Amino acid sequence: MNVRQADGSGVVHVAKPQMKETYCGRAVDEEEWVITSKEANCTACARSGAPMPQGATISAADRGRASVSTEA
Ligand SMILES: [Zn+2]
Repeated sequence: MNVRQADGSGVVHVAKPQMKETYCGRAVDEEEWVITSKEANCTACARSGAPMPQGATISAADRGRASVSTEA
């Protein structure tokens, strides 16, 4: 089970199993904590080993940006 936290800016983080902090090191504040069905999109969480769906929006977006700058 993946539990995620969405912060005010729309970034969805992934909580570690202990539910104390997210993979990217954010403390889990119960008042801010939101369980969301949205896919996690925090690159820091992903780099820290958070379970991410294959073809997550981050890598797709990064690839898109890369190809745009190459073409330009
Ligand atoms: Zn994160």
